[in-house]
Amino acid sequence: MKTYKNCQSCGMPLCKDPKGSGTNADGQPSNKYCSYCYENGKFLNPDITAEEMQALVKEKIKEMGGFMKLMAGFFAKGVPKLERWKKD
Ligand SMILES: [Zn+2]
Repeated sequence: MKTYKNCQSCGMPLCKDPKGSGTNADGQPSNKYCSYCYENGKFLNPDITAEEMQALVKEKIKEMGGFMKLMAGFFAKGVPKLERWKKD
């Protein structure tokens, strides 16, 4: 099973997640999504688009301030490339 360093929905580093990660339907920690995006096997914003997620990520990261603030644009830009938004 692949483990990810960043949430595959919003792109935020999982190490910055206060809960460590989101949770799967069985209550086990998700290795793919953070607690802001994913809980108990469900996305907290199931209808959000990649574009809306980019805006959300920018806001959230700016709130964190400091070093992360400088990275806001970088993380937002990467959102459409994450697993959740990949279309094949
Ligand atoms: Zn996330």
